[in-house]
Amino acid sequence: MKPIGPIPPAFADQHDMLTIAGRTADAWVAEHGSPVFVYDFGGVRAQVERFRAAMPRGVRLHYAVKANPYAPLVQAIAPLVDGLDVASAGELAEVRVFKPAAAISFAGPGKRDAELDSAVRAGVTLNVESKGEARRAIAIGARLGVAPRLAVRVNPDLELRGSGMKMGGRASPFGVDAERVPALVREIVASGADWRGFHIFAGSQALDSDALIETQAATLALAARLAEESGHAPPMINLGGGFGIPHFSGDRPIDLERIGAALHETLAARGAMLADTAFAIELGRWLVGEAGVYLTRVVDRKESRGETFLVVDGGLHHQLAASGNFGTVVRRNYPVAIAHRMGQEPDDPVSVVGCLCTPLDRLADRVVLPRADVGDVIAIFIAGAYGLTASPSAFLGHPAPAEVLAGAS
Ligand SMILES: *Cc1c(COP(=O)(O)O)cnc(C)c1O
Repeated sequence: MKPIGPIPPAFADQHDMLTIAGRTADAWVAEHGSPVFVYDFGGVRAQVERFRAAMPRGVRLHYAVKANPYAPLVQAIAPLVDGLDVASAGELAEVRVFKPAAAISFAGPGKRDAELDSAVRAGVTLNVESKGEARRAIAIGARLGVAPRLAVRVNPDLELRGSGMKMGGRASPFGVDAERVPALVREIVASGADWRGFHIFAGSQALDSDALIETQAATLALAARLAEESGHAPPMINLGGGFGIPHFSGDRPIDLERIGAALHETLAARGAMLADTAFAIELGRWLVGEAGVYLTRVVDRKESRGETFLVVDGGLHHQLAASGNFGTVVRRNYPVAIAHRMGQEPDDPVSVVGCLCTPLDRLADRVVLPRADVGDVIAIFIAGAYGLTASPSAFLGHPAPAEVLAGAS
């Protein structure tokens, strides 16, 4: 039997019936059907408050919309954060109504001319990923008679990895190689564009607080060096993010307070070139991941050659990451629970499989849970980020799940 990941603290202490934002899992399913994603906005708000309390004053918090673009969630989070980071013109169109253009930035490789055009017209900041893209944005600005707001995304010569920070640059489709950045900054400034600064994103889903601290310091040092070499102070530096959340057995949460204290020191020691620079941290999963729960009902309980399968009406077409097929090398179990048996002694060895006709559709592999039967609701946690929109929902033609934002008002 294999271990399951830790249930997020907000739900971990519950006994009997899982409740999300004050209502039972069964009540959510009765109202919205199964499967359903329920996002508890109270959990999101609590993360924002933790960030504000722990990070140095003035460090801005951006939400990386691709983590969960569910419109009611973005609308609710927008007033609590200082910026929204989007990765397509589609996301831009969605979030424009929730935040002023100056608080929106657009990163991502392969921005088409139409996307650059809509971003320049809207007045949002473009984090350019290459010299070619910068030149296309400048040309579009000239045609529109608008100075485009341009920041340079840097492909840093450092990398945030699961444990420890790696120095040395790699080839990347993201960002402009650090050594090419100063010349590009000079070109952008000379073009008359509205120079916005640097975007440096060194990695994602880090749980090693020391690695995060080192990476932030190295990112700031790199930005300072690039500013000196280009001869232009950056109005803003987006320091990236990468704050991870526990998904699997043995994962520990990051020490946010220690990271904040270290960043305070790092920023206090910054050089004169960055004296007037604003700083931002962009976070996706850390803000919303733990607040989401995917609820799915057991359709069949079957035995096969000594193993028990709980077959549910959901699957990897909604929650790919829990099946281990979204960027994981070794499949491990997300936290799962039988919703009305929270806190009960696990004594039933089962695998939870989805309804898709592929052996990949396994939501929990050989775990021990309290007994569940047909009709019971299974909760899969950490479903608030990279869930539905990061899953192949058209695969096999099953109906779309409901999504609900709870506790936002
Ligand atoms: C995806 C992405 C993020 C968000 O990553 P999380 O791991 O969800 O915090 C932040 N910045 C950039 C540039 C991204 O591409």
